[in-house]
Amino acid sequence: SPGTVLITGTTSGVGLYACKALVYRGWQVITANRHPLRAVAAAERVGIPAAQLTHLRMDLSDLQSVRDGVETLLGSLEQPLDALVCNAAVYQPRLRKPKRSAQGYELSMATNHFGHFLLIQLLLENLGKAKVFQSARGSYLSAARVVILGTVTANYKELGGKIPIPAPADLGNLSGFEQGFHAPISMASGKSFKPGKAYKDSKLCNMITTQELHRRLHEQSGILFTSLYPGCVADTPLFRYTPKIFRFLFPIFQRLITGGYVTQAKAGQRVAQVVTNPEFGVSGVHWSWGNRQKKNRESFRQELSERATDPITAKRVWELSMKLVGLT
Ligand code: NDP
Repeated sequence: SPGTVLITGTTSGVGLYACKALVYRGWQVITANRHPLRAVAAAERVGIPAAQLTHLRMDLSDLQSVRDGVETLLGSLEQPLDALVCNAAVYQPRLRKPKRSAQGYELSMATNHFGHFLLIQLLLENLGKAKVFQSARGSYLSAARVVILGTVTANYKELGGKIPIPAPADLGNLSGFEQGFHAPISMASGKSFKPGKAYKDSKLCNMITTQELHRRLHEQSGILFTSLYPGCVADTPLFRYTPKIFRFLFPIFQRLITGGYVTQAKAGQRVAQVVTNPEFGVSGVHWSWGNRQKKNRESFRQELSERATDPITAKRVWELSMKLVGLT
């Protein structure tokens, strides 16, 4: 087998189709879901052969569940992991009041950022074992990859990242994290709750994490850390909590007006490419295929805004996240 990959959130959308694409490329895929039976049913529904699949129970919103899932995983792995894909996410833009995770954190930040942050930290040692050292040239022949789903709407450098509905991603002075991120605090910035922005902020944290992992750990561990924007997959269940009229119009708008629309299958293929293809074996890169889809368009390295790349912010996000997930 070319490798083993752990991927979070495979009951629908990008994760499900990434799972399919990776299985078809010969990979062993371990899925991590809060309801593994839903993952089994979804895989069957889209025709993924079960022989290359293993299902793990993990609720990304609950730090204890992440720890338990990792313990089960590490106890059962025969070979080190070759890749980790951080894909699961929740987006609930219509909440009036924040929902809370098991640890009392705002739910989208807890699921999308803290759950994955802890998951990565707990798997780093294992992922570091996958490298094959090419001693003659002093470089790695192959190494494990950590691939994180980012998004255009959290990248202030791109037009999609500047849309003020409800506000662009912005972690402010991080006083929300600093004060412990418990009620009544619900935003990283410590400002008032904006559910749509909470999602964007969490995705900004995902991209900051990728950059900081690269800075801190790539050289010593060999692990390749990348993020990607797969295109606007406008019809996934991610948008299940948006108004019905939005769910009807958004895919049409993205197809006909912006040209940003990509199918779930295509987005899944893109994730699989970043996991497996040699040309994506570069650490610290945010990959994109652009915001307007064109036939046969090649991927490119999308520049991230200073909000994602600034090392001082990243250092604080790292240190505060370490604390909030209970590692320091
Ligand atoms: P979906 O809603 O289709 O998929 C999200 C997945 O995450 C589901 O399998 C869901 O499972 C899982 N999940 C949610 N909460 C948890 C949890 N607490 N623990 C474990 N798993 C959980 O969304 P998409 O496929 O659209 O999104 C996938 C990723 O792609 C996200 O990171 C998103 O930010 C990113 N992305 C999406 C874009 C788009 O246009 N759709 C654009 C750019 C990035 P469950 O059945 O349990 O809810």
